[in-house]
Amino acid sequence: MLSGLELYAYGPPVEAKQYTPLVIVNLAILSLHEEGFILTKELFREDSYLRSCAATVTLVEDNTVCVDQTVFYPLGGGQPGDSGNLVWGSTSAQIVDTRYSDVGIRHVLDDGAEVPAVGTKVELTLDWDRRYKHMRMHTAMHLLGSVLQYGVTGGNITDVKSRLDFDMEDTVDKEAVSRALGELVSANHPISCRWISEAELDDNPELVRTMSVQPPRGRGDIRLLEITGVDLQPCGGTHVASTAEVGAVRVGKVEKKGRQNRRVNIHLDD
Ligand SMILES: [Zn+2]
Repeated sequence: MLSGLELYAYGPPVEAKQYTPLVIVNLAILSLHEEGFILTKELFREDSYLRSCAATVTLVEDNTVCVDQTVFYPLGGGQPGDSGNLVWGSTSAQIVDTRYSDVGIRHVLDDGAEVPAVGTKVELTLDWDRRYKHMRMHTAMHLLGSVLQYGVTGGNITDVKSRLDFDMEDTVDKEAVSRALGELVSANHPISCRWISEAELDDNPELVRTMSVQPPRGRGDIRLLEITGVDLQPCGGTHVASTAEVGAVRVGKVEKKGRQNRRVNIHLDD
């Protein structure tokens, strides 16, 4: 039996750090959807460094393909869906996007691509350069949120530029924020993920108080992302293993989006 996972984003933000881009809860549902679809096992959730995997096609609809397991992260929490390629036999197709659906994770193939039949054994391989930048950027977002301790009202990640919107009136000192980010990167804090049950949360009120974003309740186990000594919050995205891997990160434009909102853009300098 596979364990099912559901993307669960909550908001809108009202108080400091009440917004989280992405929370994953383990619903422990059956491998079979109620209509008989096989849900996709999310290998990237346990190991974000997996670049490829073998799988079996479970569903084909237009130019989208679902498989029994995948390393492809579906669009969510401001992080883009992965791209890469799908190979079976001597045929290959470009995967241009990845999306969540209630029948499994959909790998969106390039227009006009040949599609494999249900039951076909396939190999999926990520565009790793792009995904790895998403992992660095996503981790940098957590660092930025720990430097600027204001409520976060939105965010978006790309492999080139990312942003977080803060509920704040103050001016952002770009130099100071860049310096603080650089220090967190140099300190090479370890990063880890773990699942926690609601019963464990109830037994550890101190842990809940420590979290920069409060975990959702009533939905099963929660995936926690911890940057040791820096940040602890529910998050389902893909991250690097330690802050040094974020590398050179720079604060770009700071935009004033209304009286009570500052949009901070960041770039990777390589
Ligand atoms: Zn995250």
